[in-house]
Amino acid sequence: MLQFDRFGFSPNLMKALAEAGYKTPTPIQAQAIPLALQGDDVLGCAQTGTGKTAAFALPILHRFSETGRKPRALILAPTRELASQIEASFAAYGKHLPTRVCALYGGVPLKGQIARLRKGIDILVATPGRLMDHVERHTVDLSGIEVLVLDEADRMLDMGFEPQVRAIAGALPANRQTMLFSATVPSAIESLVRRYLRTPKRVEVERSGTTVDTIDQRVHLVAPEQKTTLLARVLQDEKPTSTLIFTRTKRGADRLTQTLRSQGFKAEAMHGDLAQNRREQIIRSFRSRHIHVLVATDVAARGLDIPHISHVINYDVPEEAEAYVHRIGRTARAQRTGVAITLASARDQAALASIERLVGQSIPRHTLPGFDYQHDTSHITSQAARGGRGGGRNASRADGVLAFLERRYGRAARATRAPA
Ligand code: AMP
Repeated sequence: MLQFDRFGFSPNLMKALAEAGYKTPTPIQAQAIPLALQGDDVLGCAQTGTGKTAAFALPILHRFSETGRKPRALILAPTRELASQIEASFAAYGKHLPTRVCALYGGVPLKGQIARLRKGIDILVATPGRLMDHVERHTVDLSGIEVLVLDEADRMLDMGFEPQVRAIAGALPANRQTMLFSATVPSAIESLVRRYLRTPKRVEVERSGTTVDTIDQRVHLVAPEQKTTLLARVLQDEKPTSTLIFTRTKRGADRLTQTLRSQGFKAEAMHGDLAQNRREQIIRSFRSRHIHVLVATDVAARGLDIPHISHVINYDVPEEAEAYVHRIGRTARAQRTGVAITLASARDQAALASIERLVGQSIPRHTLPGFDYQHDTSHITSQAARGGRGGGRNASRADGVLAFLERRYGRAARATRAPA
């Protein structure tokens, strides 16, 4: 089996890896580290939980194991949570090295960051917005950057950071190494790769869009008004160690949190309206298991790396299929297994179909006793009456919904559920 010592890392780096409990490289590390060490540009198709942070952090620490005058490596990440996790990973792997790492993200005063930058930094981790603030104020010097990493590049674009990413990448020394990591590679990412990477080597641990097979995925069919009751039942039945629940809106996250608390669950909501220190406080309590249920919006949960999340629950089906992959990737981190449950009603059928197309598998449907979905007809009829695009190529939406019910409940469903 491949061991880390094949890479020729220094004893100080090896010592930190042993202390972190890493024995063998993960597949993305096995593929990407040798390329990164020989200076190649790398396009890494990997979702979170695959060990991608170490795949770029270890070669960077190997190369910059001495301190210099200017920052030599820059890692751009979409959110402050991810940026601070990357900083923590660098700190852990580099604990026996003199290399200095600093994360720059918004929501905290610039002053402290400027003071740290003045003292000298070797590796910068930053969100694009905050880094641009520093660039515009001339408080950061990027002229010594030799390695650029774009982490979770697809999320950075989703969050509207493309102009900042392009401005920063364009301002860096041309003679540098660039590594781009992304769970999915849509055409906007291909265009970044063509513009900023030089003959990149592509490494892939999973076909883009597929989900890790250590996740037990299920869809629970439920009428919309019964979702909260079903959720409480699932939490009681499954007794998850730590659960991350996704809602579509901030308000929805707050409301659901209140309901869960009133039922005795230790729950907190996390979304963009909370102050940075409050968010960090909540993440800490979740990490230390004082909170068992975290209810979050997509943006708030991006990049969250908490290895003990056993269950991810999609209280609302994500509107975009790719968000599904990102959400459920929060469980089954590293070698652990996880459960991903999606609560869905007939109106979510089209969204479910596109998720299944993306992950390339059908997700098993479940119904719990007492949540007999057949009794819920109002929205099905109204949706059917509206018509529109269907699940199948030639099917109307009504046919798609009925076919769904038929698959679920047998022919009787079609007979009784036919729209007027
Ligand atoms: P990442 O995909 O970088 O967010 O990493 C996911 C998790 O895997 C983190 O908790 C890492 O600490 C852990 N990890 C990364 N590489 C290894 C390894 N080679 N052996 C064991 N755990 C690892």
